[in-house]
Amino acid sequence: MIPRERVLNAVFNREVDRIPVVSVTSVATEDFMEASNAWWPDAHKDPKKMAELGAAAHKMTGLESVNVPFCLTVEIEALGCQVSLHEKGEKLRWPSVISSPVKEPTDLEIPEDFAKRGRIPVVLKAIRLLKKEIKEDVSVVSYVTGPFTMAGYLAGHDKLLMMTLTDPRKARDFIDMASKVAAHFGALLKEAEADVITVQEPSACCDVISPSMFDNLIKPSLRELMAQLKPPRILHICGTVSPILRGMAECGAEALSVDERVNVAEAKKALGPKPTIVGNIAPISVLFKGTPKDVERAVIGAIEAGVDMVAPGCDLWPYTPAENVKTMVEVVKKHGKR
Ligand SMILES: [Zn+2]
Repeated sequence: MIPRERVLNAVFNREVDRIPVVSVTSVATEDFMEASNAWWPDAHKDPKKMAELGAAAHKMTGLESVNVPFCLTVEIEALGCQVSLHEKGEKLRWPSVISSPVKEPTDLEIPEDFAKRGRIPVVLKAIRLLKKEIKEDVSVVSYVTGPFTMAGYLAGHDKLLMMTLTDPRKARDFIDMASKVAAHFGALLKEAEADVITVQEPSACCDVISPSMFDNLIKPSLRELMAQLKPPRILHICGTVSPILRGMAECGAEALSVDERVNVAEAKKALGPKPTIVGNIAPISVLFKGTPKDVERAVIGAIEAGVDMVAPGCDLWPYTPAENVKTMVEVVKKHGKR
């Protein structure tokens, strides 16, 4: 089975010869930047470098996905937010938002030339370059920012949380509008022929919000978004999500991506075979700080717990050793037969 077929089969809960090993979040690390000679911030801005860095983990370790972009600021930058990509020579840091022009949800409109703004053309071109290079062999995984997380970038995360209490209607309007932006970006990614779209909604974990807030405020917008995105779709929420797992499953994505805080055996027991569960190798304590032996133990544990696709629980920390990613891949190849 070629990796792309294996990954798509696993996402759609069809038969596979072995569990796939992928990332559904960022794969940009110092080791992979060095191997591909595609460094931040250039790899955020140059489509060729973005494609090279997005494929580096696959080429160097056999990871069965290529992944672009590397941050959640592409859409909001196209909406007019000022974003710092951090200059060369600085310690590797994810892009950060400096300011947002959006004060009211009514300020938020999808510009007609959205597809041409900021780094959106860079991401679309990078996907096309990857498709051309790797053909049908490996899945191209791309991302949209989840509505609640995007609304937080636009309105300010603390302000949005406060708003959910003081002016819930306005908060809802912000989230609904962000959901429309995500759907629009998702359609562009699909047009460029991304195979899999991950909706990254890290702000919606129970370390930030209550389960009832997830059900009442966030789930409806995620359902709306998923309905507009072409399958296959993965919903990624890292952090504490066990209390909202069922709600996540009801959002309509084929797969859920979770981190090490989820007990996969219990999740599979509670949810059944669908949706596909992706994860849940700890990106910091195991992949970044652990030894290859720790990685082996964690991967075997995830397979035994019944994970359907092995992946890091979230973005690879930029200083993750490539050796640990390689070990993750090799252990899945050895122990993941179905
Ligand atoms: Zn995450």
